[in-house]
Amino acid sequence: MAFVTQCKNCSMCCNSKAFDCDEWFVSCSDEEVKAISIHKGIDSNEYFYIGNREGSKNNAIKTLENGDCVFKTDKGCGVYSVRPEVCKKFAESSPCLFFPERSTLVSN
Ligand code: SF4
Ligand code: SF4
Repeated sequence: MAFVTQCKNCSMCCNSKAFDCDEWFVSCSDEEVKAISIHKGIDSNEYFYIGNREGSKNNAIKTLENGDCVFKTDKGCGVYSVRPEVCKKFAESSPCLFFPERSTLVSN
């Protein structure tokens, strides 16, 4: 089973406080860190936790103090075309947190 979500790319769910967990990580592979860093022209170390970190098996995107992913913008995801796989798959693994009526459970 999976969810099909008519996602508005509002990025309201791109915030750690939207999730009922102590720590929130958006995991990224080395390739994803590289692709995002090249796309944005940024220093990876400023925007990612590199290497294993407690609670994460992989690299992870940093969050701001208000819980926002560092790539969240007022217009949605700031790295949408190169966003990590975990972000692409999120809407398939659970219903939209803020607009559940936009998600439909379907058989694979
Ligand atoms: S899954 Fe929902 S909250 Fe997240 S970006 Fe899409 S519409 Fe917004
Ligand atoms: S990379 Fe984009 S889609 Fe993923 S959590 Fe950050 S703002 Fe949201």
